[in-house]
Amino acid sequence: MELKEIYSQDKSRAISFEIFPPKNGDISTLFDELRILKKYKPALISLTYGADGSTRDFSIELLKMISDLELTPMPHLTCVCTNKELVEHYIVQMENIGIENILALRGNLPQNQNFCNKDFKFANELVDFIQQKTTLSIGVAGYPYSHIESMNLKQDIENLKRKVDSGASAIFTQMFFENEVFYKFVENVRNAGISVPIIAGILPDRNLTEIHKMTKDTNVTIPIYLEGNLEKYQNDAIDIGVDFATQQVLDLIKNKVDGIHFYTLNKSDMVSKILNNLNI
Ligand code: FAD
Repeated sequence: MELKEIYSQDKSRAISFEIFPPKNGDISTLFDELRILKKYKPALISLTYGADGSTRDFSIELLKMISDLELTPMPHLTCVCTNKELVEHYIVQMENIGIENILALRGNLPQNQNFCNKDFKFANELVDFIQQKTTLSIGVAGYPYSHIESMNLKQDIENLKRKVDSGASAIFTQMFFENEVFYKFVENVRNAGISVPIIAGILPDRNLTEIHKMTKDTNVTIPIYLEGNLEKYQNDAIDIGVDFATQQVLDLIKNKVDGIHFYTLNKSDMVSKILNNLNI
């Protein structure tokens, strides 16, 4: 099912899970977790992409396995330091294995860009290219706190609009812990004339080390009381994280969010608890 169709359905059901290719190659543990998450009937399983392309072949294997579980995979693809030939080969391969949706990203810039191919500078160029070469439905990234390289949110949203005008059908946001920031972002995005669904990125907070790692080099802020509680009650950190995310998602659903995208970090335990709390 394509992105447009997925997010025109009953909104409370539009849930997706993000996973990454396991660094140790342990596919069986990852798929055990996915089998647990399958019961929540996710609309999509999104699979991250190593910006250096190193996980490309492994990704194809994983995408086929996700489809074999009768789940709908959405591969991510980055375009920094790659060339049009490689990208075309990959996206055509995606279509040939039955992929319908893709998340088009620029990727983080490498420290040394001197040896970097510059066929694509920004994600909107990748969206445009995918659109020309395939019939894939395209998602893009959005940043409620604005992207770290942007001067301000206004400029970032103008650039987000370039991606949508190039053909993107949905926006998946970076993680956020303050719904008010997300609501303001949605308002600004809509005021900029962007009407595609905006899918809220939720990271269940397992412990402070993990959150700090995930929010490093971003503008994402962690509420002081959440940080304080995770620090103070380290033994109960999982329960604190589950409660926090449950309240966050309940409020988003109440406010008619277009969809929820869980950053699972390849683990089912917290997401399952949150979804059980929500009765989904
Ligand atoms: P862009 O949209 O190109 O934006 C990058 C910066 O350039 C922004 O500051 C933007 O405002 C600015 N900009 C954009 N277009 C223009 C223009 N035409 N002129 C001037 N400035 C412009 N990274 C990975 O490596 N692999 C993944 O699988 C991955 N998955 C992600 C999933 C989600 C949901 C999110 C939110 C991020 C993900 N990332 C991933 C991280 C992402 O690659 C980085 O945040 C990267 O730095 C920016 O990618 P982008 O696609 O948002 O870039």
